[in-house]
Amino acid sequence: MNLILLGPPGAGKGTQARILVDERNMVQLSTGDMLRAAQSSGTEMGKRVADVMARGELVTDEIVIGLIEEQLTTVKADGFIFDGFPRTLAQADALGALLAKTGQSLDAVIEMRVDDEALVARITARSTCGDCGEVYNDITKPIPADGKCVNCGGTEFKRRADDNEDSLKQRLMEYYKKTSPLIGYYYAKGDLSVVDGLGEIDEVAGAIRTVLDA
Ligand code: AMP
Repeated sequence: MNLILLGPPGAGKGTQARILVDERNMVQLSTGDMLRAAQSSGTEMGKRVADVMARGELVTDEIVIGLIEEQLTTVKADGFIFDGFPRTLAQADALGALLAKTGQSLDAVIEMRVDDEALVARITARSTCGDCGEVYNDITKPIPADGKCVNCGGTEFKRRADDNEDSLKQRLMEYYKKTSPLIGYYYAKGDLSVVDGLGEIDEVAGAIRTVLDA
C-alpha cells in the first residue's frame, strides 16, 4: 500500500507516519528529513538548500523528485508513506510517473485538516529526539521529567531551525499557494480522504486506520 499524507506544516504528518511504520511494514519517505540529513552531512546539495529551507520556501522540484526517485528504485517495502511529498502539482505528476515506472500505484491520499491557529501553537512548541526523531510538544507531549526519550532513551533533544513564527508564516503561504491545489488534484482522481488532524494523536491514528482498512 502506498499512501500520501497531505497537510500543512504541523498537521502531524510525521507523527502519524511513524505510527504507521510501527504498525505496518511500511517505509516513511519524508523529503524534509532527507533534506535535513543532507544538510547535517554537509553535502553540496545540503548546502544549496539550507537558506531556502530556513526561509520556509520550497526547494526545487528537481531536487526532491530526485530524492524520491532514488528511494523508490532502491528501497523494498510493503508500502511507502509519502510525508511532505508531493508539495507541488509537478511533484504529484512526477510521483505518478515514478510509481507507474516501478510497477506500483497510489492507494490513498489522506488530507490531515488542522486550523492555522493550532499549527502555530504546535510548531512553536515542537521538539524532537536527536537520536530517533520522536516528536514532543511542550504542552501536549512534554519531554519526560527524567530527560529521556520515551522511544529510545536518548537524552539529546532539538528544535528545528525553521520552527519559528517568521519561517512558519512563509511555510504556510507556500502550502496554500503551491500544495493545497493537490487536494483538488487527488479529489478529482478519486484518491482523497480527509481526516480531522486536530484530535489526540491516537484519535487521528484511528481515523487514518479506518480510511486504510476501508
Ligand atoms: P518538512 O520537514 O516536510 O516540514 O520540510 C521542511 C522544509 O524542507 C520545507 O519547508 C521545504 O523548504 C523543504 N521541503 C521538504 N519537502 C519538500 C518538497 N516536497 N518540495 C519542496 N521543498 C520541500
